[in-house]
Amino acid sequence: MGISGQQWSGELGNNIAELKAQIRDNERIWSGFRDIELSIIGAHSLRELVALLIQGTSKAFSNVDCATVACVDPDYSLARMVEQETAPDLPSGTFVPITRGDLEGLFPEPPRPRLDRCNSKVQSLLFPVYPQHLGSMALMPLILRGQLIGSFNQASRHPMHYDPRTATDFLEHLAAIAALCIDNVINRERLKLDGLTDALTNIANRRFFERRLREELTRWRRRGGALICMLVDIDHFKQVNDRYGHQTGDRVLQQVSDMLGKDLRASDVLARYGGEEFVLLLPETSEKQGTAIAERLREMVARARFDSNAGDTFAVTVSIGLAMLDRRSQDVPQNIADWLLREADAALYRAKQGGRNKLVIAGTSA
Ligand code: GH3
Ligand code: MG
Ligand code: MG
Repeated sequence: MGISGQQWSGELGNNIAELKAQIRDNERIWSGFRDIELSIIGAHSLRELVALLIQGTSKAFSNVDCATVACVDPDYSLARMVEQETAPDLPSGTFVPITRGDLEGLFPEPPRPRLDRCNSKVQSLLFPVYPQHLGSMALMPLILRGQLIGSFNQASRHPMHYDPRTATDFLEHLAAIAALCIDNVINRERLKLDGLTDALTNIANRRFFERRLREELTRWRRRGGALICMLVDIDHFKQVNDRYGHQTGDRVLQQVSDMLGKDLRASDVLARYGGEEFVLLLPETSEKQGTAIAERLREMVARARFDSNAGDTFAVTVSIGLAMLDRRSQDVPQNIADWLLREADAALYRAKQGGRNKLVIAGTSA
């Protein structure tokens, strides 16, 4: 039996309408996920991040009866972090501390999203305070640098709401972003808790820097490679205070530290080393790259304009001393940390002697 031209075009029309509906559906889902991602990237605390994830999910998708975030947290330090704050609102039991063993039990290697029926054992583990029986669930493993660190969980009373055949690309993408954001806020909050940040500039302090320097040097001894250390000192900063007052001076320190921290990689360290002196540690950075970065920073500060409390506009400059370790640094002494800082400091001194607003590389005549 043949099909008439009219029937055929009718079916085609239906197919196109179906496709269009599907595209619209996908666009709606995508925009829901994008909104959540954009909001969590801006989170300032773990509590805020969890709240945004949960709110965003229930706003964007119907039939989510319960959503939680579980993180490996054997000493409950993350749970304390979440509970210490009071804002924003967060229903209790939304952040779930979990042991590595329990988490790994939920996700066989390699960890994959799980859309499944929800049994009472999993419910009591991941949705501990939800009062009714949950029928189905979507569990997204949170993976950071190849390690399972937690899971983002949604559940519905409806047993068929989450179906193993459903595509999970959107959720996987969200989970990847969420893992990064969680790592980021946790690190920031830990810094504050341990007294390792500088209150004025909000960057790491000298104590944190010294700790990270030791870690990086241990890694360097094992693996070699290049490691750059630079000291950045604001030129004639005393005059800024004398001329415009210390409040303006404080603002200059904040703005300069913002500039120095702008394009750092996750492994780089920026710290306030002393009053108007900053230190940067750049692992796996060659002398050429380090020199280019230092020059760019020096120019960026010199080009910037600062405003005084009285409404004057002025400029400041920085001098930079750069020292490095690489495979060629064969006769470095036992105490490499001191040696590296002394080299950077000697180079900084020469930059000041040479007229300021200058970069000097340790061990060179330039
Ligand atoms: P040089 O170019 O040789 O580095 O000169 P300088 O004036 O920058 O250096 P000096 O060491 O003589 O002065 C540093 C000034 O930094 C003195 C101190 O009052 C000021 N300072 C240190 N910490 C702070 C701070 O937190 N806020 C403000 N406003 N000033 C600070
Ligand atoms: Mg100075
Ligand atoms: Mg100084």
